[in-house]
Amino acid sequence: MAQGKWGIGGFIKECHRIAKEKGWWEVNRNEGELIALMHSELSEALEAMRHRARKEQVAEELADCCIRIFDYCGGKKINLEKALLKKIEYNKTRPYRHGKKF
Ligand SMILES: [Mg+2]
Repeated sequence: MAQGKWGIGGFIKECHRIAKEKGWWEVNRNEGELIALMHSELSEALEAMRHRARKEQVAEELADCCIRIFDYCGGKKINLEKALLKKIEYNKTRPYRHGKKF
């Protein structure tokens, strides 16, 4: 895979194709479990940071989370690119720090 050649749609297609090939979609997936698995990758990123892991290790866990999100979107036919573009445009209209303390 050449770096920088894929858009969001390409990542979704490839991540879902691989997950299907590895047997993860042979049974009906529990959606709560799929979301929990996305969380678990972020927790792994946090643990890596807590243990002062190298940036590359943190990046790997973030990549795992993205892969799970892309696979989920592929499996559930979610147009993530459209949602991202919509949210980015919306965020541009929000006030400084979204009007919140943190
Ligand atoms: Mg991981």
